[in-house]
Amino acid sequence: MERTKIVDLLRRTDFGAAVTVKGWVRTRRDSKAVHFIALNDGSTIRNIQIVADAEKFDESLLKLITTGACLSVEGTLVESQGAGQASEIQATSIDVLGTCAPDYPMQKKGQSFEFMRQHGHMRLRTNTFGAVMRIRHHMAMAIHTYFHEHGYFYFHTPLITASDAEGAGQMFQVTTKDLANLRPGEDGKIDYSDDFFGKQTSLTVSGQLEGELGATALGAIYTFGPTFRAENSNTPRHLAEFWMIEPEVAFIDLNDLMDIEEDFIKYCVNWALEHCQDDLEFLNKMIDKTLLARLQSVVGTEFIRLDYTEGIRILEEAVAAGQKFEFPVSWGMDLASEHERYLVEQHFKRPVIMSGYPKEIKAFYMKLNPDGKTVQGTDVLFPQIGEIIGGSVREESYEKLMEQIEERHIPMKDMWWYLDTRRFGTCPHGGFGLGFERLMLFVTGMQNIRDVIPFPRTPKSAEF
Ligand code: ATP
Ligand code: MN
Repeated sequence: MERTKIVDLLRRTDFGAAVTVKGWVRTRRDSKAVHFIALNDGSTIRNIQIVADAEKFDESLLKLITTGACLSVEGTLVESQGAGQASEIQATSIDVLGTCAPDYPMQKKGQSFEFMRQHGHMRLRTNTFGAVMRIRHHMAMAIHTYFHEHGYFYFHTPLITASDAEGAGQMFQVTTKDLANLRPGEDGKIDYSDDFFGKQTSLTVSGQLEGELGATALGAIYTFGPTFRAENSNTPRHLAEFWMIEPEVAFIDLNDLMDIEEDFIKYCVNWALEHCQDDLEFLNKMIDKTLLARLQSVVGTEFIRLDYTEGIRILEEAVAAGQKFEFPVSWGMDLASEHERYLVEQHFKRPVIMSGYPKEIKAFYMKLNPDGKTVQGTDVLFPQIGEIIGGSVREESYEKLMEQIEERHIPMKDMWWYLDTRRFGTCPHGGFGLGFERLMLFVTGMQNIRDVIPFPRTPKSAEF
């Protein structure tokens, strides 16, 4: 008989129907005459209860039905007598597809996330990781749907790049050279002309520069793909391999950009509330009791738009009034997470879009304001997370862009193609980068970014 997914079965009320379900045993409870098996197939956080009469099944079969074992169950869909579920299956036949060895690591409830990371290959079978991974899928669908509906084209930028203009220190090199046999030239430098690509290449830290080529041809594009940063920072908000969403749009100004950022992120959070109800309720109960309220509040409130200079003034006032920060506050500094969170969580109590940063702390391609000191960069700051989005209006003037490049001594010899966008029909444009896992942290209420991606890559850790 054809298998019914548990998510579909739980919606059915045609009691008396013969059904087949397949899944993994979550728990088993025995009384003298009956065995109750909670079965989960990953299609939903909910289990289906299997009722197996002791007299109908062999002791030798029942012995194999342990937590983690995989079963195929045929039976009758019946209205449940017990509390906690509307329906259950009265089993007529049980087939053990896979027994579960006694050292199955996910047997006990309430194991720590640290323990689960060490057994990351099996943690996907737990309630929490099932919920997180289903939500992850729905958030990806939300992102594609948003951009598709708003006329953006999904644009694929390369993962291997030869440009080192951005974050060179944080890049993973890509090479086929024999590392045991590297011979530096007389100048001490490695010659890459005989390497696979004939030059030094790395994994991308951002698809933005290529994204700008797309936007200045197609009008509006977005990327959604893996991004790599060899930043040696062991924080709960950084991964070495993460997924980034980078829309880039022609003919927009700073206000348009902030409108898009706010509209997009609200759409995604709202999508979660609409499509992930069961999983969010589970996380709200087990992980973070304020999760649902926080998600609803973000969808329902206008984000604060805050100039950097004004933000610094607020922080300085807070310090004067006795607020303690680890890092001192002054105009020109890059905000640390503690400052961002103070503004969002204590001062405004809602998301903040900050803009008008000093040019020295932002990237070379950001549009310079008429004051000559600040740029049209924006960061969207969120409760619990800090920076969730970084974006900017791009400098469209060739001369001004070159000035920034020269001031910063950025090696541009391989970047002629990027500069050509400013020579051939340049236009106002802008875009932003959203870290997918930062969005996932916010939407799930999970505390550590390692727990919202199936297989995290972080310093000294590339298991599974
Ligand atoms: P942060 O200051 O938090 O390190 P950033 O300024 O380096 O962020 P951007 O270069 O602006 O970030 O990247 C755009 C977005 O990508 C960020 O807003 C964030 O959501 C995400 N992001 C950046 N680095 C990481 C990382 N190592 N792991 C996960 N997400 C990241
Ligand atoms: Mn960073």
